[in-house]
Amino acid sequence: MSSFRLIKSWIGNAARQILFESPIGYFYTTAQAGAKPPHTVVGDAAIHTAGPFKIIPVPYFEDNYGYLVVDTEKEEAAIIDPADPAAIMQALRVYAPTASVAAFLTTHKHWDHSGGNAALKQTFPSAKFYGSHVDFTQGPVSYNSFYCIDSPLHGGDRFKVGRMAFTALSTPYHTKGSLVYLFDPALSNPAANMPASVFTGDTLFVGGVGRFFEGTGVDMARIQSLLRAELNPSTLVWPGHEYTHSNLVFAHWINPSSESVKSKLESANNCKASNTPTIPSTVAEEFSHNPFLVVSGSTADSWEIQARIQSTVSHQDREAVESECRQQLQAEGGGDSEELLARAILTGCLRRLKDQFKPPVSSAGLDPKL
Ligand SMILES: [Zn+2]
Repeated sequence: MSSFRLIKSWIGNAARQILFESPIGYFYTTAQAGAKPPHTVVGDAAIHTAGPFKIIPVPYFEDNYGYLVVDTEKEEAAIIDPADPAAIMQALRVYAPTASVAAFLTTHKHWDHSGGNAALKQTFPSAKFYGSHVDFTQGPVSYNSFYCIDSPLHGGDRFKVGRMAFTALSTPYHTKGSLVYLFDPALSNPAANMPASVFTGDTLFVGGVGRFFEGTGVDMARIQSLLRAELNPSTLVWPGHEYTHSNLVFAHWINPSSESVKSKLESANNCKASNTPTIPSTVAEEFSHNPFLVVSGSTADSWEIQARIQSTVSHQDREAVESECRQQLQAEGGGDSEELLARAILTGCLRRLKDQFKPPVSSAGLDPKL
């Protein structure tokens, strides 16, 4: 890497640590946010109820979502990514006023997911605070006094909150310790007629994925395989941000023939107009319209995305992506296949294109509302 790129990378990392990983960023944003109204209006349509279980999205900050998972028979609740304690407490008062909050599940260390833990630990001293064993022990400063993880998890760990059964899956690329949490109602209560749900933080969004802050195309290519292997297609996807519309504008640009993308984009346009949430989607839908999952397939949509990558990514970016992927695989012992490397390069190049993407203002075929 040239010295210019090294300096640029070092400055980028330092800025990111201050903005996303330190209490400074958290306190600055919460002070700025003040008492703004929620970014979307969560009505009954966005609340998922089946049998005794309810999933309630909690919008907060600019575009984040936390979630209440409530067992209405046992009066117990688990809360995912409670970064805004005021929004979480308000949602509890409205939707689960008599439930006891037994656990907080943090998807990753960034404060817009974990920054409320310290305050909520004061309010709920007997609750467990779950999170990765990795994220909270890395970095120049240990922030765990702020993030309060007291029940560290590894990928594959299973645990129960009351009778609600969760599995943590490790998805290391946005941060090394990123986890997604799979909630399986069938394991929680055999009578529950409800598909599983996965809470994905910044790993998987509707129509997109998180930035590769601490990983590469190799990590993302492995996560494509993990999601396909571990999640039933009917699993509901509950992401950490409302990024659906902008993700689908990019998806439409990279995969203009896709009917799935067009249909989902139309639906996202309607949600944007009515200020309502676009969540949840399903794993099957994501493998149909999300370019970061479609790219590694062998459908006509996959080929269109691959062709668009080949024709638009710069030679310099392509070389940089290939070099970092090869270096990672070599450092790991070089035991993986050429097939993985090919998917990793495609996925890494796709991420570069998304990072550089500026939505077209009025190109032919695009709805001007985009
Ligand atoms: Zn994040």
